[in-house]
Amino acid sequence: MSTASVTTSAQVRLTAHPLQRVGACAVAGLAGVKDRRRSPESLSSEEIEFARGRMTADVVATADLADTKVPGSFWLAASYLLWPNSKMNPTNRKSLSVVERRNQIMQWRQRPTAVLDVPCVLCGQVACGFYGKVDIPLAASVEHRNTTVPGHDGMALCVGCLTSFHALPYGCSIRGGKAAALHSWDDEVLAKMTLRQVLRTKLQADLTTTSASAGVYSREVEALRALRTYEHPIRAGVELYVFSNSNKQQTLDVHSIEQPLAEWLRTTLQPTVLGIGFRYLIRAHHSPKAAGSVRLAYNAFHHPQRLAGTAVSYLARLTDALGAPAPETIELAGLYQSFIREVLGVPQREVDQIVQLADRIGELLRKHPQRGTLKEFEHVHSEPVRLQAWLKRQATAWTLQRQVSEALVTTEQWRLLFEPGDRVRFHRDLLFVSVLEHLAKTGWLAGTPTDRDDQDDTILAEENQ
Ligand SMILES: [Zn+2]
Repeated sequence: MSTASVTTSAQVRLTAHPLQRVGACAVAGLAGVKDRRRSPESLSSEEIEFARGRMTADVVATADLADTKVPGSFWLAASYLLWPNSKMNPTNRKSLSVVERRNQIMQWRQRPTAVLDVPCVLCGQVACGFYGKVDIPLAASVEHRNTTVPGHDGMALCVGCLTSFHALPYGCSIRGGKAAALHSWDDEVLAKMTLRQVLRTKLQADLTTTSASAGVYSREVEALRALRTYEHPIRAGVELYVFSNSNKQQTLDVHSIEQPLAEWLRTTLQPTVLGIGFRYLIRAHHSPKAAGSVRLAYNAFHHPQRLAGTAVSYLARLTDALGAPAPETIELAGLYQSFIREVLGVPQREVDQIVQLADRIGELLRKHPQRGTLKEFEHVHSEPVRLQAWLKRQATAWTLQRQVSEALVTTEQWRLLFEPGDRVRFHRDLLFVSVLEHLAKTGWLAGTPTDRDDQDDTILAEENQ
């Protein structure tokens, strides 16, 4: 809707540009929207102008600052990675008076009034100007950088899209010389995560200290926490955009989590639902060199299949050391089973087949509850040839014991475990953890779970706050 003072079309749209979409939701956050179900497209002109006013006040306030070392210089420091060569940080900044700086910044951020005869390239509304690196962070890939060739005017944008790009940094975690934004094509997920980030960024900007260094993979840790604490089903994948628009090093990295994994992480690792499973998964990822929560977050965004593999190797290590299933077994086996079903898409029928075989193997092992029995199975499970030979030997014992003609391993189970394919490794690991689960459920356990409390790192304490 236009008002008397607003002459160009200024609606905020959700376009096909992920970072513009994050920015659009950040405009809503700056306008005071708190409901994830309210689309940024419903923002009134007044709300958009309110958001623009807040942003302008933040950047104009930097005019008073001597440099990026003084307290309260968050936006001035961030400007070098977000808006290089802008009126906030000209090379002659030091020689300008505060009033001159202020005027230049206000001029840069004043609401464009031009009405071009071209549409906005992102949303099709009437464009108000052509914009490049000074206003727009990176485009979709390094091959499509927003730097423009000499003589080219840049991207035609409308006021709504320009405002979205100016608001984008509020929807980003800014630290360590880079900005990180979480994007999803699920509009409600995008809105919720961005609204939350806007609050955090404003808090960070209000701090008088300028410490904004990034811990190792802190962006992944933050992003995973955002996923885990989202309260509603996630209907699309989530991407973590880590970028810098800086003159020194322009970078863009995109780390994606597909929808099934995003939803699995959300539902499985919610503190309120299966808190113990999440705690044990952190333990599984613990190493002397890195906190478990950090390795877990890194794997989620970079090597998701390692989430399951790490749980298996952790159980194998514990079993080997203890000579019996560790107390973490039942929870981690449950997580493993849900992972291969929900993330890898292994049908329930196949999971059931393998669990059935695992129960039979568990019964056989329980006949000889010595330390070496389980150690031997742990040894054979990871090597297909050894496992085949072991199963053939056990088949005889099984037949004698049961005095039935029913085979220990059915043809289908054999195929699931040994027929070449992408999933056989997961099937064999499923067999292993399910055998451990069977033994744990029937009372063959070692130690208590509290023995390893020291491996639960601070993420748990933070989340309980
Ligand atoms: Zn537009």
